[in-house]
Amino acid sequence: MELQPLKGRAAARVDEAAAALDGLALAIHDHPELGYEERFAASAIAARLEAEGLAVARGAGGVETALVAQTKTGTGGGPTIAICAEYDALPGIGHGCGHNLIAASAVGAYLAVVAVAKDLRGTVRLIGTPAEEGGAGKVKLRAAGVFDGVDAAMMFHPADADVLDPLMVALRVLHLEFRGRAAHAAASPYAGVNALDALMLGWGAMSALRQLVRSDSRIHGIITDGGQASNIIPEHAAAKIVVRAADPTYLADLRRRVLACFEGAATATGCELHYEWGEAMDMVTTNQPIAAAFGANARALGRPLGPRRAGETSGSTDMGNISSVIPSIHPFLSITAERVPWHSRDFAAAARTPQAFDTMRVAAKALAFTAIDLLARPELVRQAKAAVAPPRGK
Ligand SMILES: [Zn+2]
Ligand SMILES: [Zn+2]
Repeated sequence: MELQPLKGRAAARVDEAAAALDGLALAIHDHPELGYEERFAASAIAARLEAEGLAVARGAGGVETALVAQTKTGTGGGPTIAICAEYDALPGIGHGCGHNLIAASAVGAYLAVVAVAKDLRGTVRLIGTPAEEGGAGKVKLRAAGVFDGVDAAMMFHPADADVLDPLMVALRVLHLEFRGRAAHAAASPYAGVNALDALMLGWGAMSALRQLVRSDSRIHGIITDGGQASNIIPEHAAAKIVVRAADPTYLADLRRRVLACFEGAATATGCELHYEWGEAMDMVTTNQPIAAAFGANARALGRPLGPRRAGETSGSTDMGNISSVIPSIHPFLSITAERVPWHSRDFAAAARTPQAFDTMRVAAKALAFTAIDLLARPELVRQAKAAVAPPRGK
């Protein structure tokens, strides 16, 4: 089948919806919401689709702020292609990860594929996935069956460079709690057991460990409880630590070594250590056949994507857990003129500029074209499935 006319019609559909898509991206940016609280964003996306006459299932997978819209072609059968929308923001700095643009691009891509669906064979499913920034919404939705039957999944992420196959590493969260004994900090400090000191000692050991780890690994965190009053020896202290590495075997080693820092501190101070390993994200496994198709489509739109830069890691994502089991892509398209770090106020400002909206619409077209490739060429879906790596360890 000659796909160029279909892609031309899909691109025209994105252009036709440009004002609405830009408006959606701006509205979500103006109403930043934390993970699992994205009621405004989920409603705005659903309302946009419903205004186009498309059905939306809200609260998909039992998650209030998740949603699914799905369109099957007339002939039935064929593969199911998922386009993922994210729309959560960060505490304090709003849309410093640009998820408002991910949402608008996914809606644009979905509208574009729907516009040509009768000439294709298969199903396109828009999945609104809450809580990427902590909360692992996609893991929850997959467990609830929202990704069932999906043959390929895709999304774009805004960035400060165009990268087809970014290195996004595996992650585990460690919740730590020290319990000591309270006492008057001036009158009888010797009667206390200082939980904050235990945490600080462990933190110091963890900081020393950082010098010795591989360059694509990360260890970082925050103290969530450092005591209640300065005249009380803290009886309780807590922290949330994140350990990341590309190699699952090395990640397991780092987890053991980080925990040992805090176990040693518990011994040194006489505090009790309680801990729990939480959220797990897999490394992103970029599906090479789908990435090649996306790369060709983006190039045709005037955006040639490069490979990842040597020595650069780009954080982690719950899309990694999808990519372990379903052929997936998670490419980056730049929304900035120069290097701007994610999760910064500068990136939040960049996520609402005309340049950002232009990129969002290019992403919508490139995603739609790639979905069209998959729906029109069964051999591409077969190649993509053959290229899925076995699930990575946690
Ligand atoms: Zn982020
Ligand atoms: Zn993000």
